[in-house]
Amino acid sequence: MYDMATRERALALHTTGLSLSQVSRSTGISRSAIRAWTTRIDPSPRMTAECPAPSGRLGPTVPSGAYTYLLGLYLGDGCISPERRGVYALRIACGNVWPGLIDTCERTVRSVMPHNATHRVRAPGCTHVVSRSKHWPCLLPQHGPGKKHERPIVLEPWQRELVVRHPWELLRGLIHSDGCRITNRATRTVGGEVRRHEYPRYFFTNTSPDIVRLFTDTLDAVGVEWRTARRASGAVDVSIARRASVALLDARVGPKG
Ligand SMILES: [Zn+2]
Repeated sequence: MYDMATRERALALHTTGLSLSQVSRSTGISRSAIRAWTTRIDPSPRMTAECPAPSGRLGPTVPSGAYTYLLGLYLGDGCISPERRGVYALRIACGNVWPGLIDTCERTVRSVMPHNATHRVRAPGCTHVVSRSKHWPCLLPQHGPGKKHERPIVLEPWQRELVVRHPWELLRGLIHSDGCRITNRATRTVGGEVRRHEYPRYFFTNTSPDIVRLFTDTLDAVGVEWRTARRASGAVDVSIARRASVALLDARVGPKG
């Protein structure tokens, strides 16, 4: 990358009357680079964007509801991995059977990190929504080596404040990533008449005790009743089956996509 003095020298040559091609020949800098500097002399925003979580809190330019939804998606199905030069890639896995969820996820990532490109990488059965920034670990400090269920997942005080403000956004993110809504159907004979009944319920499954606790604490905060069952694998299923609680989730979480 060229330093600012070099950029300014090249632009000065151009403004004093040399064509872009002439400046390019005399400086050895590509014509397209010089042309880009005529509209924006700064290095690309990717390199200079201010930290969206300065001094360990969410900055005022980041929409807090979208962030809290993204936190839920990340805790459910996301990972952050270091790449070169201090850049980190955030990847959120979305099942291909929910195309609406992929769109929502991409929109959300873009609204939280608007200056950086967001793109999709297809894999068997799922699509990864990917965004690269030096600041993903600032925004999602739960980043760390190893799997999430093998390390403690503790929210920072500023993240806990956001969850208190936007509990439904966190629940939406967690259910959209590691949850589902299913309908059990049954028939019952009442007075010689066969009646069909539907029992919708929500499930959330996760292996991290800390993430399960965050989910159930947040359900408690909004008045949704739940039960848990532990699988042989160690994963925990949280089930929400009471009619009033399912109705609350239907109204506030919405379909997966
Ligand atoms: Zn940062």
